[in-house]
Parts: sequence; C-alpha cells; structure tokens
Amino acid sequence: MDFKKLNKQDFLFFIELLGKEYVYSDNESLDKYSRDYTEDLSFLPEIVLLPNSVDLVSAILAYCNKERIPVTPRGAGTSLSGGALPLYGGVVLSTEKMNRIINIDTSNFQVITEPGVINQTLRDALAEVDLFYPPDPASKGTCFIGGNVAHSSGGPKALKYGTTKDYVLNLQLVLADGSVIWTGANTLKNSTGYNLTHLVVGSEGTLGIVTQIVLKVIPLPKYQVLLVASFNSVKDACATVSPLFMNGLQPSAVELLDQKGVSIAVKAKSIENPFPECACFLMIEFDGNKPEAFQSMCELAYETCLAHNAVEVLMAETAAEQEKFWNIRRSIGEVVKTISIYKEEDTVVPRAALPQVIEKVQELEKEYGFNAVCYGHAGDGNLHINILKEDMDDHRWEKELPKAIRQLFETCKALGGTISGEHGIGYVQKAYMDVMLDKTHFLLFAGIKNTFDPNGILNPGKIFDPA
Ligand SMILES: Cc1cc2nc3c(=O)[nH]c(=O)nc-3n(C[C@H](O)[C@H](O)[C@H](O)COP(=O)(O)OP(=O)(O)OC[C@H]3O[C@@H](n4cnc5c(N)ncnc54)[C@H](O)[C@@H]3O)c2cc1C
Repeated sequence: MDFKKLNKQDFLFFIELLGKEYVYSDNESLDKYSRDYTEDLSFLPEIVLLPNSVDLVSAILAYCNKERIPVTPRGAGTSLSGGALPLYGGVVLSTEKMNRIINIDTSNFQVITEPGVINQTLRDALAEVDLFYPPDPASKGTCFIGGNVAHSSGGPKALKYGTTKDYVLNLQLVLADGSVIWTGANTLKNSTGYNLTHLVVGSEGTLGIVTQIVLKVIPLPKYQVLLVASFNSVKDACATVSPLFMNGLQPSAVELLDQKGVSIAVKAKSIENPFPECACFLMIEFDGNKPEAFQSMCELAYETCLAHNAVEVLMAETAAEQEKFWNIRRSIGEVVKTISIYKEEDTVVPRAALPQVIEKVQELEKEYGFNAVCYGHAGDGNLHINILKEDMDDHRWEKELPKAIRQLFETCKALGGTISGEHGIGYVQKAYMDVMLDKTHFLLFAGIKNTFDPNGILNPGKIFDPA
C-alpha cells in the first residue's frame, strides 16, 4: 500500500490541532505504541495522537484521508491478534483521553460511554446502581470498551449473556473522510435498513473510529456460586461440558484450565494455589438473585461431573474464595508470556466437539514437537490454545508452525467451528482467513471496506489484504 510518510508540516498540523501534550513523537512513546499484547511483534508509528473529542477525531481523519496517512485506532493495546499494531507507520490514534461515562439511564437500562473507558470501570459504575454489563474479557481491568466493540469481545459470562455485539445498540462513528454518523438508534429494536451497528462491531478499526457507544445493560445478578471440578485428562473435562447443558443447567460460566496454566500463573504472580493437584479443571459458575436455587443446580452439576470421570468437585461459596480461582484463570493469558514467546489461537467449535479439538492439539503437539497451554471458555466451545516457542528454532517457528495452525483451523472448520471466537483476525490470523472464506467473501469484504474507507487509511493490513 502506498502511504505518505509524515513530514514537518504534518507534525505541525497535529500539534496545532491537538496541543503539544496530546501529541507524542519521542522514541520511548513510539516504542510503547509500536506493540500490543500480541506475541513479540513491534511496528513503529510515526506519531501518536490522543484526541479527547469527536471533533478532533474527525479533523484528524479528514486530514489523514486527504494526505494518505495511515491511521491505526488504539484502545488499551490488549489485542492478541495484532489489531492495534501500526503496520504501515503513520498515526496511532489512541482513545485513552476519551474516557467519560456520559450517561447511565436507569429507566431505559442503557449507558452511553466514550470508547476509552476501561471495561471494569464501567462495570463498577453500573454496579453502584444495581446494573450489569455482562461482557467480561479476562483483560477487563485494562481493556477499553471501544476495543471490546472493535473485537466484539467476550469473556466467561458470554456463555449465559452473549458477547459485546449483543449489547451494542448504537455507535457514533467517524468515517475515514472525517464525517460523523450514528449507526442505529438507542432502542432495543431497530428494523431500519442495513444493520450498520452490527457491521461495525467486530470490524477491528477498519471501517471507522468509534467515538461514543450506547450499550444495553441488565439488572445486576447479586449472587454467584463456583464449582471447581478436577479431572485426570483434558479430554474428560471437555467431554463433561456438553452434558451439563443437556441436563438442563444454565451456568453463567464454564471455563477450562489445565495444570500447566495454573502452575505458571501461581509461580509468576506468587499467589496461593487453591486448585488441587490434577491434570485439568472446569470452573462452573452459577449466578442469580435467588441463592436458594443454587443448591439443586450445584447437585446436578456435581453428579454430571462425577459421571464424566471428575476426580473431585470443590465448591467456592464466598466472593473471596471464588476470586482466588478467578484470579488464576484471568492471569493465565498474561503470564504465559513470561515463560515463552507464544502464538495464541482462539479456536471455537460447537461445544460438543471440544474433545475432538483437544485430540487434534495433542496430535499436533507430537507431530510438530511443541507444548501448548489450553484454557478458555469451554462452555462456548471457545478454547485458547497457546503454542509455546520455548527452544524451537526460528525457522521451525516461522515456517513449520503455520502448517500446524492451519491443520488445527481446518479441523475446527470441519467440526462446524471457526478460527476466532473473540480475539479477532487483526494481523496475525489474516494468513488463515482462506480456511473459512472464499473469493466471494473477500470480494464482499473489499466492497464494504472501499465504501467506508476508499483510500484504505484505516487500520491497513488488518483482517484481509485488499485484492
Ligand atoms: C490477558 C488477556 C486476557 C484477555 N482475555 C480476553 C477474553 O477473555 N475475551 C476476549 O474477548 N478478549 C480477551 N483478550 C483480548 C483483548 O483484551 C480484547 O480483544 C479487547 O477487547 C481489546 O481491547 P483494547 O482496548 O485493548 O483494544 P486494542 O488492543 O487497543 O485494539 C483492538 C482493536 O480495536 C481497534 N479499536 C480500538 N479502539 C477503537 C475505536 N474506538 N474505534 C475503532 N476501532 C478501535 C484497534 O484498531 C484494534 O483493531 C485478552 C487479552 C489479554 C492480554
């Protein structure tokens, strides 16, 4: 792609528009914004801009579009698919200064927020008025709502409540040429032409920059109970997931962890390990406002786990006990990085097919000689498979491993699944999009991209390469 390199005039324009303190071009900042959480990748931007209003975002995009300067929107930079990496340099547009919760509407169960609000900050503000925004990525203490929208992020609670897309009612969007639109309406129903809101959710910053978000929220479930079932094999744990639902249970989360993941988290964070010694665990959570209903649910879940070879099932009743388990579960994605470079795959299949995915991973581990840490949202059939580089040489890592990943993805497709459940395609999964999509899909994608962003300045090189 042919983009302009920034010159002195461009720097002066941005400084005049935003003020010096909202423009970074020093080496330390450029280095910081050259990375996100993906592997060990780094692409240097030429400048980092931190606008604090929709008008400024609009002015930046209008200028960049005219000058053919690439713009990479950025939230908190926790993407695991390279979404926030500025592949072509240019501008990183950070939304960190757009961090106001604009309105919590308790009568309509809606919240209007700017994109730079941290997911947990929004949850805390809503909890104060007994409201709840369910999507809860394990990165919820850091990631921004805007990033969540751009990836249609999930999290453990997606099992019962759905992902980000199920909560976005309306978006204020700045298009590549600087024009500003609302994509929908602040209503629970909308049947007014194409659904631009859902087109933008999950579009990874390639169609526009989201500057305000209207979210649906629900009453806060006040009580939770957590069961932790231990298994001698990952396959047994996976084979237990579908029967939980077939027995009529509606857990709010069913998460899978293996012993490797638990040990790494405990060691890296120097925290107490509440998990027993066993190969693999299922964390099964129920929530609601009638704790008396939990007993029968827990009994049924307990029996189902034992019937599928669980070694033991623990119950964590208090919030403090539960948090010890959740803290470890949430830490895994982050701490795996401390032991090795890794590639994170975000496979998703219909949940009854989980054992076949694990079987394939084990087969590939043997064939290609790698170790994988598997964990994630088993209830959704969404497993994160972290393939560790450890002492694998660079050639095998770069040239051979992609063949293993392709085989894994082909297996997911054959099982009725797909190659990303919640982390998006970004930069690192782009090479595998042909597993899922054919020429017709790519032509449709290119047509949509061209309509929103004819000069291709918005997050270029993400999701797919234009034909
Ligand atoms: C330890 C860890 C655990 C995680 N757990 C989960 C999990 O459980 N579930 C899950 O779904 N994900 C998870 N993630 C992935 C990640 O946190 C999510 O994808 C998150 O939504 C990214 O948000 P962010 O603010 O960091 O966005 P960034 O990483 O900054 O950006 C992500 C993408 O969004 C685009 N973008 C950001 N803001 C805007 C905007 N305002 N307008 C348009 N485009 C924008 C960027 O260009 C990029 O393509 C995890 C990540 C880590 C590191």
